[in-house]
This record gives sequence, structure tokens and C-alpha cells, in this order.
Amino acid sequence: MTAPLVFDGHNDSLLRLYMDGTQEAVDAFLAGTAPGHIDLKKAEAGGLRGGLFAIFPPSPRDKLDLDRMPKGGYQYPLPVPLETAVAEAATIGMAAILFRLERGSGGRFRVCRSVADIRSAWDAGAMAAVMHIEGAEAIDADLRMLDVLHAAGLRSIGMVWSRNNIFAHGVPMCFPSSPDIGDGLTEAGTRLVKRCNELGILLDLSHLNEKGFWDVARLSAAPLVATHSNVHALCPVSRNLTDRQLAAIAESKGVVGLNFATAFLREDGAMNADTEIAVMVRHLDGLVERLGEDGVALGSDFDGAVVPKPIGDAAGLPRLFEALERHGYGQALIQKIAHENWLSVLERTWKA
Ligand code: ZN
Repeated sequence: MTAPLVFDGHNDSLLRLYMDGTQEAVDAFLAGTAPGHIDLKKAEAGGLRGGLFAIFPPSPRDKLDLDRMPKGGYQYPLPVPLETAVAEAATIGMAAILFRLERGSGGRFRVCRSVADIRSAWDAGAMAAVMHIEGAEAIDADLRMLDVLHAAGLRSIGMVWSRNNIFAHGVPMCFPSSPDIGDGLTEAGTRLVKRCNELGILLDLSHLNEKGFWDVARLSAAPLVATHSNVHALCPVSRNLTDRQLAAIAESKGVVGLNFATAFLREDGAMNADTEIAVMVRHLDGLVERLGEDGVALGSDFDGAVVPKPIGDAAGLPRLFEALERHGYGQALIQKIAHENWLSVLERTWKA
């Protein structure tokens, strides 16, 4: 089997480059010598040809310690809310890195604003990057910054990371736990949903708590999308989607991207790289069963999570597809999971 072309729903490569803070790190991403999960060489080796590049303003003093996601359970409080000025600086910083990657790439990395852009990037052999925000703290209640970022290329927003802001309430990281923790959207959050619908910006439901999820389900005219979340019935972490949530996503003809974070895959909830690809296959089976073949995609969380060792990094993506083929998935379904379902839901959401 030739490795399928992959569009991925979530990576934190911009955060990794922003935290590094040097031009050398940006150059290493382009040269294929970066230390993380993704650079242009690893992406090419694994068939990773595009995805949502997250701009995530980090919580400085509350950096989640992954070693503290142990087997047997945990309950972390929500990190404190982020000040607007801090979030703005980080958001502009990561957006600048995205555009510097494009400018420095000699045409091999393109920021895409429509599905036509993605297809023409692929025709030219370039990686198709879409600007996404995870945690909208840089956006003001009057949504002025939203208009500016949309004009710059923003096409997808997770209104919260696992943190509260003026729009909504993030789901705290708890295992085992229901995602039904905290209140729903605020009045500003309701306006953000409507404005995103008008502008054709995708609303990402990963990290939103369950009351917020149902508010968006009620308010939004677009298909429901969770870019990087798994099946709660198989791994009962607060970040995963319950069967009721998955049924609502299916009904809206939405999409869920499989998160490779081992803490959201394993039934014991541990963040542990010693995890077999079979566990990822089990979640994909669960997603296909609940969403149908048109609702399942990938959302790796590369550069933001501990992923199964047999995958390792972006170059290891073909091993997931080999496992799916051995498991009985046909080529048509594999192509849908690899990129077709993402392109379909983006086209229906962006209307471009
Ligand atoms: Zn995330």
C-alpha cells in the first residue's frame, strides 16, 4: 500500500517553535532537522501533507506536567485564566511563526484559506497549513480581533483550551470523569458562535466542557467538529466524547479527529508511550461505529502529547494505515480517514 496523503486536525508545532523562540528552530522545521514530532522531512516521509496548525497561548505557571497523568486516575484543577495582553502576545507570536514558515519555505509550506487552496498546495507538492486557535483569550468581547485574525487567515477556533475565558468554560483534565463539569457558554460565547458561522470559521469542540458543547450544538448552523478527541466509552477521560455527544456530531454530519495522546487512548488513562497501535485502531472502530465512515478523521496532537512509541512521530503515520488495512479497512475508508473527511467538513463549514 502506498502511504495515503494525510490532513491532520491538530498539531502544536507552532507552540514548540514559539517556546524555543529562535529562528534556528524555524529553520530546522523547514530543513527537516527539528527535534519534535513534525518537520518537513518527517512529514514527507509519513505522508503528512497538511493540517490545522494550532496557535495555543500557554498557561505559563500552570504548565501541565505530563508525568502527573498517572495510571489509576487524576483530577487537575483548571489553570487560571490568561490575561488578554499575554494571550495577544502569544497569539501574534505564533501567527508570525506560521507566516515565517511560509515565507522561508520556498513554496513548500503554504497557509491555506480555502479547500481550493489546500488542493492547489497539494498539486504543487506543498504542505497545506490552516491557521487555528486553541484558546481564544486574545479575542475581545466585541470580536474586533476575530475580524483581524480572520482577515489574516484564521479558519478554525477552539474557543477554550482547558481553561475558562470570557466565552466559555474549558473541561478540566480528570480521569475517570464525565466531561460535564462547569457552566455553558457566556453571552459573548453565544455571539462568537454566531459570528464564526457568518464568517465561515470552524468551531472546534475539543476542550469545551459538556454544557458548552450542547450550547454550540443548539446555536451553530455548521457541522459539529472535535478536532482531537476520542471515545469516552473506551477511555473515560473528561477530554473524550460521550456516546450522546458523538450521536449529536453524527447527526450534524460533523467530524472527530482521533487524538494520538496516549492519556486519551488507553483505558487506564496513563500518558505512557508504551502503547500499541491496536489501541488507536480500537478508538477508530468506535468512532466509525458511532459516526459512520464520513465522520472519522485524524487529530494527532503531534508536538503536544506523548504518542504511542510505534508511531513515534509524523514519519510513523503509515504504520497506522498498515494496521488499519490488516484490521480489514478498505482503501476507500482509509482515504476518508486520512484526508477526505477533513476536506469535506471544511468545505461545508467554510463554504469555500
Ligand atoms: Zn488540545
